[in-house]
Amino acid sequence: MKLPLDINKIKGFLDPDEGAALFDHCMTASELGPCLEVGSYCGKSTVYLGEACRRSGTVLFAVDHHRGSEEHQLGEQYHDEDLYDEQLGLMDSFKSFRVNMRLAELEETVVPIVASSMVAAKKWATPLGMVFIDGGHSLDAAMTDYRSWSRHIVPGGILAIHDIFPDPKDGGQAPYTIYKLAKSSGLFEELIRVKTLGLLRRV
Ligand code: SAH
Ligand code: MG
Repeated sequence: MKLPLDINKIKGFLDPDEGAALFDHCMTASELGPCLEVGSYCGKSTVYLGEACRRSGTVLFAVDHHRGSEEHQLGEQYHDEDLYDEQLGLMDSFKSFRVNMRLAELEETVVPIVASSMVAAKKWATPLGMVFIDGGHSLDAAMTDYRSWSRHIVPGGILAIHDIFPDPKDGGQAPYTIYKLAKSSGLFEELIRVKTLGLLRRV
């Protein structure tokens, strides 16, 4: 997989092996329909998914309110002062996201949706080839993402979930909870796990 820019230059929370797995599965899933991610931040995952969508001639919807998750807020563990709007007193990763989409030559492929996952999903009606969930990590946020988006995945399409920690010692349980829900729903079959990324296929 050759990416259109040096991926290490983009801030974010995605391991290169996880990115490669997203790219590979998106290459086939994007043949089935446009793809969507929840949680773009500065666009690291967006580049892997977007590049696959570009090659398939489809689009990637990139949903993020760009106000950061709990852990990105001022004073929290993953706060980044470069992404903080002093005047508003709010996080704003959209500027950086836009710069990166331009550098990655993905402006004709990626459709940014600057809104919360819940608002973006409200009137959604487009069937999707792949959905990547990497948004808020509260149980409420993860459940909203799962309920809002998994139902739009076409048969044969892919549901990818980030930050899966089967052992509670390693991290929060919300993404793992929706992963298990997807599995037990009978609507998805487990494909593969790559580090903290889980991939399932819509049956
Ligand atoms: N996928 C990114 C990392 C995402 S970090 C990467 O590859 O680096 C999580 C992102 O989810 C943050 O940018 C945050 O703003 C966004 N987010 C959190 N809760 C959200 C919600 N309810 N709706 C939309 N975006 C949300
Ligand atoms: Mg994540």
